[in-house]
Amino acid sequence: MRPYSIVCVIILLARAPVSIGASITGISDRSDALIDCLTTSLSPEGSIILPDQPLFTTEVARYSLLYAPKFRVISKVSNEDDVRASILCAKHSNTTFLFTGPRHGFYQGFEKIKSGLEIDTSAFNSVTVDPEANTLTCGGAANFQQVIDATYAVKKDMPTGSGSCVGVIGAGIGAGIGRLEGLYGLITDSLLSVRILLPNTTVIEASEAQNKDLFWGIRGAGWNFGFILNATFRVYDQVPNGMHMNADLIYPSNITESFYQTLRQAAPNMPAPLSLASALSWNAEYNDTTLSVNAVYAGPESEGRKAIQFLLDQKPILRQNITMVPWNELIPATFFGGGADPNCTLGTTRKSVLSAAFNVIDPKAQVRMTEMFKKMITRYPQTIGSGIALYFPATQAARAIPNNQTAYAWRDVLGHMQVVLFN
Ligand SMILES: Cc1cc2nc3c(=O)[nH]c(=O)nc-3n(C[C@H](O)[C@H](O)[C@H](O)COP(=O)(O)OP(=O)(O)OC[C@H]3O[C@@H](n4cnc5c(N)ncnc54)[C@H](O)[C@@H]3O)c2cc1C
Repeated sequence: MRPYSIVCVIILLARAPVSIGASITGISDRSDALIDCLTTSLSPEGSIILPDQPLFTTEVARYSLLYAPKFRVISKVSNEDDVRASILCAKHSNTTFLFTGPRHGFYQGFEKIKSGLEIDTSAFNSVTVDPEANTLTCGGAANFQQVIDATYAVKKDMPTGSGSCVGVIGAGIGAGIGRLEGLYGLITDSLLSVRILLPNTTVIEASEAQNKDLFWGIRGAGWNFGFILNATFRVYDQVPNGMHMNADLIYPSNITESFYQTLRQAAPNMPAPLSLASALSWNAEYNDTTLSVNAVYAGPESEGRKAIQFLLDQKPILRQNITMVPWNELIPATFFGGGADPNCTLGTTRKSVLSAAFNVIDPKAQVRMTEMFKKMITRYPQTIGSGIALYFPATQAARAIPNNQTAYAWRDVLGHMQVVLFN
């Protein structure tokens, strides 16, 4: 989940881009080698967006403003040749560039891009499933909800993440943490092959059979090797009727220590179909900081209730809701129906998103964190929208794969933490 940033300046200029004429507006009085090159290089379906055009702000908006890069041009690519032309134009004009998809990434290093080229790959969003072959192929910018909808329609499942708008490949090439992890492992563990456009603009396949070393690196450190045009994943038969148990609970924050003591026992032995997420945040309804917990069980309610009995035994519970939900409707249903929309909003005032993986649950540290959180929102009221989320997918399938099989180095972790600070 912790990536190294992909800020590429291409060294290998193979040939000048081919002139095929893009649709561009508002650039008549500019003199810029990058713009001139893109103008003559992109296909008619491709386009350029400049800062003085109204669309520009929307098209560079990111989930987090932390480490946000600054662009002077957007190249909206529509096919492989456009990607190639954009890279060559960036090199030709000595411009740093960044591929962007759903723009949920926030990595140290992006901020070094001060006047760069955004290569907007959102057109690469196709998703096709072959239910006979048990495979799914998606474009480089497809998001989780698209993949969930496509697999659900043919009664298949694939490990995906908890935010519906996050990129499947953007997440999957770093590992990919998600609710079906106990059953199928990390998202990257289901990756079968990729078609990748390398920095020298050639396109190759990487899999266990071809370019094996590259495929190893892509599964855990995949942002650094080029743009993945499309990727093929293994898919699995869906759980009975595609129904999952969704349980949402809200506790007062004063149960933090006993909650994490219980979780410390339960987390390493969670049944494979179970995943948990907790969120510490200010709750206007209770005029207090509360601990919300979402538990999802991939299977029947009777089994799911048994699996989360330790959560139901934690008292007091301020609010509780347990329902069966089809997989394709799950993300928006979580956290009492608040699971999707806030995560899809780009370009808000959200400043800092900090993540970490851990393999020890320390209840006293959680109590200290809760106290510090409360102090922070009291002293700095503008931070009241902040939150601390912890994710505990069952870990057995991810741990069953040897550590050296992919570049992802943290298979022994127990959970993941994300601190979102509004300021
Ligand atoms: C609200 C939210 C929820 C999240 N939930 C989860 C989760 O449940 N599980 C999880 O594992 N992670 C999760 N993440 C983290 C997420 O996986 C990373 O931030 C990821 O890098 C986002 O990818 P993106 O394509 O959406 O973002 P972008 O910012 O568009 O891309 C991120 C990086 O990936 C590169 N990249 C994107 N597509 C390609 C491609 N096709 N080929 C090569 N490089 C590419 C980009 O160049 C960039 O360096 C979440 C993040 C947020 C903000």
